[in-house]
Amino acid sequence: MLIESRPVKLTTRTGVGVNRTIPHGRLRMIGAWCFVDHFGPTDQTDGMVVAAHPHTGLQTVTWLFEGQIEHRDSIGSVQLIEPGQLNLMTAGQGISHSELSLATTQNLHAVQLWVALPSKDLVIAPAFEHQADLPELRVDGVRAKVLIGSFMGQTAPTTNYSPLVGVELTLEKGTHKIQLNPEFEYGFLNVVGEVLVAGEDVPVSALKYFETGRTEVYIEAKTHATLMMLGGKPFGEKILMWWNFIGRTHQDIVTAREQWNQRDQRFGEFEDQIGGWIPAPELPNLTLQAR
Ligand code: MN
Repeated sequence: MLIESRPVKLTTRTGVGVNRTIPHGRLRMIGAWCFVDHFGPTDQTDGMVVAAHPHTGLQTVTWLFEGQIEHRDSIGSVQLIEPGQLNLMTAGQGISHSELSLATTQNLHAVQLWVALPSKDLVIAPAFEHQADLPELRVDGVRAKVLIGSFMGQTAPTTNYSPLVGVELTLEKGTHKIQLNPEFEYGFLNVVGEVLVAGEDVPVSALKYFETGRTEVYIEAKTHATLMMLGGKPFGEKILMWWNFIGRTHQDIVTAREQWNQRDQRFGEFEDQIGGWIPAPELPNLTLQAR
């Protein structure tokens, strides 16, 4: 299955757009991966200025190819993110954060990914980790940086709560065999270049999906290329995603929304250079359902 990306405007001061693949009508999740946005490459004058906003029930993975972003959050983290380093924010029961791209000579080019937490972990305390020293493999024209989980015998130190893998693949021109775990489903997001995944052309920002049961896939890079490989065991739970919250019931979302808009201590507070905070929008006039 090929999932084409669609343009989405973020709620930011600069009106920047992203290319989103999942969630999609035909594909809600890949393992616990539940949200895939590809941003840029774009000039820093159109950078990312996302004021304070909350999250629940998920982990955010911010991964840069170019540029720099400053992350601040309500548990006191202040972190400059650079390419090749992983920022992982575990919202658990609730956190708030802001993101500001810094003026440099580089373009900003990134993915932001969300990982759903299993039901038993929805109430964990919020946490933040910065992984600057991730395992990297180089084999036959493939460079693989392991962000989370294990790939070809290398395991990232990143905290995860369900069986999951995330790898940045940088491919030289040519055809490459990539090993897969048959217990996982996978998505291959094309970030840069012209690629055929299992014989199918995957445009930049689009994602090629595979169900469980595969042990390998061939990727033909017609140019030097970068892809994100996202995999995991089928999640096995329905989740309810609304705005920046993940829960299981309509009431989970109603409560989180009210608490954020009332600036409840559940989401903490912090100071940044952006100032202000993004209120949660109105709920639709219906009962939200987990899917
Ligand atoms: Mn966020």
